[in-house]
Amino acid sequence: MATDKKIALVTGANRGIGFETARQLGKKGVTVIVAARTLKSAEETASKLKTDGVEAVPLKLDVTNAQDREAAAKTIGDKFGKLDILVNNAGVGPQDGFVPKTINTTEEELQKVFGTNLFAVIAVTRSLLPLLKKSEAGRIVNLSSVLGSLTLHADPKSPIAGFKVFAYDASKAALNAFTIHLAAELKDTKIKVNSAHPGWVKTEMGTDQAPMEIPEGAKTSVDLALLGPDGPNGRFIHLGQELPW
Ligand code: NAP
Repeated sequence: MATDKKIALVTGANRGIGFETARQLGKKGVTVIVAARTLKSAEETASKLKTDGVEAVPLKLDVTNAQDREAAAKTIGDKFGKLDILVNNAGVGPQDGFVPKTINTTEEELQKVFGTNLFAVIAVTRSLLPLLKKSEAGRIVNLSSVLGSLTLHADPKSPIAGFKVFAYDASKAALNAFTIHLAAELKDTKIKVNSAHPGWVKTEMGTDQAPMEIPEGAKTSVDLALLGPDGPNGRFIHLGQELPW
């Protein structure tokens, strides 16, 4: 089906910031492919959004599953022939919450957190890049975190200095490296790649201690997904402001 409408894929769209990102993009006239770990969850998400007037298409995509990734690329290619926006939103937090821990981080936790927050993002992006290259203005948004900022972690006075949760923080720092490298590799294409820090947001991961509500938390992802041709590329952004790497 050839279409002039923008097509977006949001991973981990069944709850939290991902759900709201899909909703806000949909409200702006984008057709949103809502990806979730199970088909049931994706279908439930799509029907909730449709009730809200959003054009939503369900997709099963466990980002760590190679078969799912391959099938997703084929389904999107067959149905739309292109992808305009990829929001790499799915992510996992640290095993024991945001409690400082470095040397006692287990191999298992490193594998799990890097598996989802870094390796799966790279693999999903690789699978979908041929379709993003068919877009007039491809946009890749990597959901990072200010906790991935090495500059801020290295400053003992920074507000995040006390949140040294190695597995999670390092996975987002590495994700930021992916953003910079991929943006450079794609600089002669129409694709822009940026890292988003949503803020500290009231979700399952952010907990109810977080100061920010989910609609505001989705704003940075939505802005970066809809960047115009003069927008930033290879940057780390929170609500329109650049963050230090
Ligand atoms: P959340 O409420 O915990 O939601 C995480 C989402 O990721 C869920 O939809 C979850 O699906 C999905 N997911 C996890 N592993 C997956 C997998 N293997 N395959 C597919 N989906 C998977 O978290 P959130 O707060 O909305 O976070 C969204 C993103 O923002 C994350 O990348 C997070 O690191 C980042 N972030 C959040 C905050 C914050 O304060 N909340 C701050 C900075 C950055 P299930 O329901 O199936 O588990």
